[in-house]
Amino acid sequence: MRKKVIAGNWKMNKVLSEANQFVGEVATKVPNDTNVEAIVCAPFPFLASLVEKTKDSNVKIGAQNMYFEESGAFTGEVSPVMLRDLGVTHVVLGHSERREYFNETDEMVNKKTHAAFKHDLTPIVCVGETLEQRDANETMTHVENQVKQAIKGLTEEQVAETIIAYEPIWAIGTGKTASSEDANEVCAHIRNVLKDVTSDVTAEKVVIQYGGSVKPATIDELLEQSDVDGALVGGASLEAESFLQLVEAGT
Ligand code: 13P
Repeated sequence: MRKKVIAGNWKMNKVLSEANQFVGEVATKVPNDTNVEAIVCAPFPFLASLVEKTKDSNVKIGAQNMYFEESGAFTGEVSPVMLRDLGVTHVVLGHSERREYFNETDEMVNKKTHAAFKHDLTPIVCVGETLEQRDANETMTHVENQVKQAIKGLTEEQVAETIIAYEPIWAIGTGKTASSEDANEVCAHIRNVLKDVTSDVTAEKVVIQYGGSVKPATIDELLEQSDVDGALVGGASLEAESFLQLVEAGT
């Protein structure tokens, strides 16, 4: 059985004192349950402190992006080596906001995914369609293409370890959640794509999350779906109480 993975994506929010206070509140409360994994994906300046503050807890700390090179003349970038050295365990890659505002391409996401595995970081690879694509019935082909590009060249073992987050762009920060059935349909399609590219056994191991206006009130129904193995949560992950409710739903 696949574990549930609840990841908060804080995006560009909080200052250090607020970040520390949040993990101070949740660190002792996230249950020691092998069925659920709780991850907080925070801005770079907070990572060292958050790793330190969660080291004896069941909370893992993730980054929201990274560059694919290990070091060098790349002003302003952060490398996988730096993240791993801090004790960061996960990294969100190819979020739609990075694709839209920072021109990230499928090719860059693929390079970053390889770099993550090289440095023992678990990638959370984001895919999802725009409203125009959904209305034009292009959701499945678009998502399929993004998934295939992202995992190109990975070993089956690495694919099995990849977390894929299906985040329809029209549902992000809008209060519009995809229905649980619609979310599951796309997540199941992603798993079928993974079966084609790898094998049934490998595809059954992959954790596929849904993201887009997930709230404590909507999480239970999502997690009941056959192919939704967790959530990548923005707004509702910013308050400790609501983050804990989301994690609790996964237990
Ligand atoms: P919201 O939960 O705020 O809609 O954000 C979703 C998201 O983009 C998580 O990565």
